[in-house]
Amino acid sequence: MVKLHFFSKWLSNCVFLRLQKKIKMSKRYTITAALPYTNGPIHIGHLAGVYVPADIYARYKRLTGNDVAFICGSDEHGVPITIKAKKEGVTPQQIVDRYHKIIKDSFEEFGITFDNYSRTSAKIHHDTASEFFTTLYDKNEFVEEVSEQLYDAEANQFLADRFVVGTCPKCGNEESYGDQCENCGTSHNATDLINPKSAITGNVPTLKETKHWFLPLNKHEAFLKEWILEGHKKDWKSNVYGQCKSWIDDGLRPRAVTRDLDWGIPVPVPGGEGKVLYVWFDAPIGYISSTKEWAAREGKDWEPYWKDKDTKLVHFIGKDNIVFHCIIFPAMLKAEGSYILPDNVPANEFLNLEGKKLSTSKNWAVWLPDYLQDFPNQQDVLRYALTANAPETKDNDFTWKDFQARNNNELVAIFGNFINRVVVLTNKYYEGVVPTPSSFSAIDQETLATVKAYPAVIESSLERYRFREAGQELMNLARLGNKYLADEEPWKLIKTDEARTQTIMYVALQIASALATLSEPFLPFTSTKLKTILNTTENAWSDISTKDVLLPAAHQIKKGELLFSKIEDEQIQVQLDKLEASKKANEAANKVVEPQKEEINFDDFTKLDLRVGTILEAEKMPKAKKLLVLKVDTGIDVRTIVSGIAEHFKPEDVIGKKVTVLVNLAPRALRGVESQGMILMTENAEGKLVFVNPDDASVNNGLHIS
Ligand SMILES: [Zn+2]
Repeated sequence: MVKLHFFSKWLSNCVFLRLQKKIKMSKRYTITAALPYTNGPIHIGHLAGVYVPADIYARYKRLTGNDVAFICGSDEHGVPITIKAKKEGVTPQQIVDRYHKIIKDSFEEFGITFDNYSRTSAKIHHDTASEFFTTLYDKNEFVEEVSEQLYDAEANQFLADRFVVGTCPKCGNEESYGDQCENCGTSHNATDLINPKSAITGNVPTLKETKHWFLPLNKHEAFLKEWILEGHKKDWKSNVYGQCKSWIDDGLRPRAVTRDLDWGIPVPVPGGEGKVLYVWFDAPIGYISSTKEWAAREGKDWEPYWKDKDTKLVHFIGKDNIVFHCIIFPAMLKAEGSYILPDNVPANEFLNLEGKKLSTSKNWAVWLPDYLQDFPNQQDVLRYALTANAPETKDNDFTWKDFQARNNNELVAIFGNFINRVVVLTNKYYEGVVPTPSSFSAIDQETLATVKAYPAVIESSLERYRFREAGQELMNLARLGNKYLADEEPWKLIKTDEARTQTIMYVALQIASALATLSEPFLPFTSTKLKTILNTTENAWSDISTKDVLLPAAHQIKKGELLFSKIEDEQIQVQLDKLEASKKANEAANKVVEPQKEEINFDDFTKLDLRVGTILEAEKMPKAKKLLVLKVDTGIDVRTIVSGIAEHFKPEDVIGKKVTVLVNLAPRALRGVESQGMILMTENAEGKLVFVNPDDASVNNGLHIS
């Protein structure tokens, strides 16, 4: 108890210091979330990597009294959209109109509280991006260069970005795009690709001269070095800092910021006819134009949100966007001269699904519209599970089993259970009226003091962009409530000590009230429900640490409703079956059947002596990963066969197995062991070897197979 007392006193001190600091620190925040690309709906990977953490952060900053602009919008230019439009025989505008709506609806349904959600096809964005480009052009910040670019003569088109596929010069990935390798994350020029091929016709492109404007990143190298490598060594996440360092160390080169395309923002300077701005030049400017659109609607001035040095600019993105947000966009802002630079870029790594990379083209994903159909009104469950598993420091895996466990073992069994007990008992014992406490026991006092410390504990995690940790701290507050009730057992005391029961229920109601406020960034729908049940919206975030009474005696609460419900195994199985169906469909789509070999006659066939055999012994070949040394009873003799199956079978798994053996294959030595024959194998759809197998115990060894 002494220890606990000391701990809570220390926590209260922290709270006090932090509050003092915060009163001074309340400020303006421009929080951006990566503009989703409008060629498909949003899946859980996007939500976990960018939008849920960004929303938690924005809600928290608003709740703690800051001036927040939370900005996003659809990224509607670029090559993939034109490729998709071509494939479907529609216009690019039709593609972006379709997905802009789907994406915007998903964000609203999941409670992502953007102050503005714009789109880069909007006039305000075209104007803003054109103006930005013109300013840099007038300041001579571009290098104008006629260079040879990849050209597809058949398609009559220059090949940039996703119009060209080839081998990444850095990692050797054969499927790298012209602007970026998805395997190693390197960003490069299309002409850097080895063995480039047109994505339109499959032709090998030729080189053709064309004029473009380049942003000379090399010119900004010294500034970037100082600003990131010196200035943000401590406060940027190590995955972000590390990627930046490796790019800067490799040496920065000029990057073309225009393209020979007809979909995008026209290049607004002489000689720019038939060319548009590179999508990665205009997209981040989308944050600025979306802020302008919002400010105009709200009757505010947009400029302080981008130009006042007291504003904190934070970009939430996935790791594939680090180079654009940490190197290229800051270089653009710096070259323009009047803008602030990001204070932090808390990029996440990738989320996998059931052990495999999320993939739109392979339909290996959980799409948000599908989730809502299968789990209606359970947005908070997904928000919670994704936060608990956020890929903050390394790639992480989403599994449906973990999702179920997070719901059943944490949201239902801890948070929901605590609230349900408090609300049901208050209604049962006191007709929903908060009872008057008598004197507090030492445990009551410790408990109330610990509750007061929670805002600071959660803030400390959020300020360091540790959303997993913050979410777990919130759950710890619910755990505290659950444990308090379990230890104090008001349902027993009600029979013997009414005064004590009243005090216990009063304390429990204070914890419930703290949860209603502190859960808002993480579980916004639950927070609203809980505030309705407790019949109060009075408490602000800071009240939880400063006010002694969160829910006063005599306050009337309402009847309860369950905040969370158990997710059954059958519901999870439905999801697993869906993924299995996707997997099967992919296998079928990718199935390659080898063409038939050259015709042979019967005599050729009879030369093969195929026999039934049984594996008697098996052991690993020393220092060979793939080889097993087998003793096989062929009916003729017991002989040694070396087989390349060690990565698929353990020795003990194959002993006793009936197999088909080619017995008259000329012996050959493998690692010094003579192999006298071959066991027939094939490979299944997942690439696992399986035996071609006379699977019947009544078939004797030595029998011919013909
Ligand atoms: Zn690569």
